[in-house]
Amino acid sequence: MTTEEILRTFDIQPSNPGAYAMGWLASAESRELTSLNPATGAVIASVRQADAATYERVAATAAGAFTWWRMVPAPKRGEVVNALGNALRAHKEALGRLVSLEMGKVLSEGLGEVQEMIDMCDFAVGLSRQLYGLSMHSERPRHRMYEQWQPLGPVGVISSFNFPVAVWSWNAAIAAVCGDTVIWKPSSHTPLTALAVQHICNHVMARFEIDGVFNLVVGSGREVGQRLVDDPRVPLVSFTGSTNQGRNVARSIASRFGRSILELGGNNAIIVMPDADVDMAVRAALFAAVGTAGQRCTSLRRLIVHESVADRVVAKLVKAYGTVRIGDPQQRGILMGPLVSEEAVGDMMAALDKVRAEGGKILSGGNRLDRPGFFVEPTIVQAHKEMKIAEEETFAPVLYVYSVANIEEAIALQNSVKQGLSSAIFTSNLFSAERFLSPEGSDCGIANVNIGTSGAEIGGAFGGEKETGGGREAGSDSWKQYMRRQTCTINYSGDLQLAQGVKFEV
Ligand code: NAD
Repeated sequence: MTTEEILRTFDIQPSNPGAYAMGWLASAESRELTSLNPATGAVIASVRQADAATYERVAATAAGAFTWWRMVPAPKRGEVVNALGNALRAHKEALGRLVSLEMGKVLSEGLGEVQEMIDMCDFAVGLSRQLYGLSMHSERPRHRMYEQWQPLGPVGVISSFNFPVAVWSWNAAIAAVCGDTVIWKPSSHTPLTALAVQHICNHVMARFEIDGVFNLVVGSGREVGQRLVDDPRVPLVSFTGSTNQGRNVARSIASRFGRSILELGGNNAIIVMPDADVDMAVRAALFAAVGTAGQRCTSLRRLIVHESVADRVVAKLVKAYGTVRIGDPQQRGILMGPLVSEEAVGDMMAALDKVRAEGGKILSGGNRLDRPGFFVEPTIVQAHKEMKIAEEETFAPVLYVYSVANIEEAIALQNSVKQGLSSAIFTSNLFSAERFLSPEGSDCGIANVNIGTSGAEIGGAFGGEKETGGGREAGSDSWKQYMRRQTCTINYSGDLQLAQGVKFEV
């Protein structure tokens, strides 16, 4: 498919030569946002950003739609999400290609991201008949007490560039069956994929003769994102992005007593024990560190290897890095595409300067590739415990390797960073595995045994601790955050009785 064909699939029409506008939401005065192809550095298309008036229109639409959407029975809301899932199935190839084109991840990962959206819709459809509340025994005779879950309101979704569409679906599919409407502010690096998804939503909503359940505002974080964060009509904002931005967003939302779901940066580690299947550990580490060019929140940043197998693991890993095919992410056989932007390349090179200054040794890679676009070599660094740069999340394929003497040292090192997203251990020893999963083990939101740090399934609650923000999204009971809990007590005794035996008689 050509770029032109992909864009036309999603009704993204040329507004002038080389530019495309979002016809349904353009205001003549609003500024344009240019989307680049990170594999070439060339402009793909431009979209108009939401100005203050456009934001107001969208937010008012979402708030208005909430007043009737909340009264649609949840299983009926599930039918809309079911249709959305089917529309995504029909557009999987084109949308996956657009993700790959605009964000730079390899095609199979782009398609995988759309599959994740479809899985989320399926999960949410099932959930639409399972939004259960508990019933409790009242201490008062002839009283019934139970809790029920009510829709919350318009939910703000602010998403990062690296999962330009899946993050939206984790939130939007669940929020929609819960009776909430959604206002999405995507990353400024990936407005076209957001536009494509919104156009799919528009077709689905039109089929059901509804409007305003799924809404989009494109624009910068500082302007449009902040407007959403500060909007008192929006009781919940789900924010996915860096810890720095998340900290500001969390403060703003807390100051108006809004709720937030924070999915922030990670600094994920794999521990390799002497009894591990070394080949499997190396394959897992390679995918986790190099996949998506190291631009996943769950990307492997630190490999903590028992000293007895460290040389063997490092030698195999360096060899494997040498075989990674880097290039156009849409081409078959390519395993690593570009970084998202020139700035991201600069950040990686600055981190490697710090590595050198702190006495780290680069074992493989370390350079920018001499070609158009934002390509770098995946890099392995022999690190030491005092290295400060390894405690930060550099959003690029840089892997720090450590050697440790025992599992206690390995777990302590893994937990020593400020982030707490994903973690893994490779071992065939039951004691080591259980130790890692015990309360004195991994302090992360995700802890895996014999599986890498990246590539979570949607059925579990996804998110992390400490500076990763504490949010949980997708599966398990994450849906409860998108609803408000209401405790109800019904008195059918014909007599007014106070709790705790209190008497208040006149
Ligand atoms: P970013 O923080 O630069 O931007 C994220 C989003 O926040 C964008 O839409 C941006 O426009 C918006 N934003 C920026 N300032 C804002 C403000 N003041 N108010 C409201 N919105 C604002 O992050 P990024 O570079 O797009 O993504 C990479 C980061 O996201 C990494 O740190 C990665 O670990 C993290 N991430 C975390 C998860 C997770 O689930 N924990 C998932 C994906 C990405």
